[in-house]
Amino acid sequence: MKKGLLIVFSGVSGVGKGTILSKLMPMKELNLVYSVSMTTRKPREGEIEGVNYFFVSKKRFVQAIKNDELLEHARFVGNDYGTPKEYVEKMIAEGKNVVLEIEINGAKQIMEKCPDALSIYIVPPSIEELERRLRERSSEDEQTLMKRIAKAKKELEDMDFYEHVVCNDDLDVAVEDVRKIILKEIKKKSR
Ligand code: 5GP
Repeated sequence: MKKGLLIVFSGVSGVGKGTILSKLMPMKELNLVYSVSMTTRKPREGEIEGVNYFFVSKKRFVQAIKNDELLEHARFVGNDYGTPKEYVEKMIAEGKNVVLEIEINGAKQIMEKCPDALSIYIVPPSIEELERRLRERSSEDEQTLMKRIAKAKKELEDMDFYEHVVCNDDLDVAVEDVRKIILKEIKKKSR
């Protein structure tokens, strides 16, 4: 059986990665599955265990690293995040295209281990627009929000690392851009 594709999908907080993905995931032609990460962050309102994340204690996270259960892991604004290895490897072997919605440090670890992975970075039309979107979501206190905005400004400098950069100004256009990038890669792989 043909192996699936690993897709690294990144972008600063509040850029709309989740919304773009929610439109792409049901598209049958893309044959996507989502890799649910492990995190020590507390769930936000509406987030579901095993769907958005596996919410774990710091102790459990450290154990996962020790047991070599994670494909990559990184710290982000005071919390740990990591990709469970077993699910990703199983899905790839079954020919599914696996989406990893992860930040830059994790992305770098993945690209080192799997140079064939496709990498896509979503950028906001401007920093002002990003700040507006983050405030609108306002799931965090002001201090955390400011940290996320500062982090976002720094992270935007990293976008050169990614193979593809897509601007999320108009949602439908961004979704279509990402769809085309993934389809092209799928076709290239099956040649
Ligand atoms: P949030 O707290 O907003 O859900 O996620 C914060 C950041 O962590 C986002 O950039 C998100 O893509 C990233 N992230 C989520 N899961 C993982 C993971 O498993 N590994 C890494 N390296 N980053 C992750």
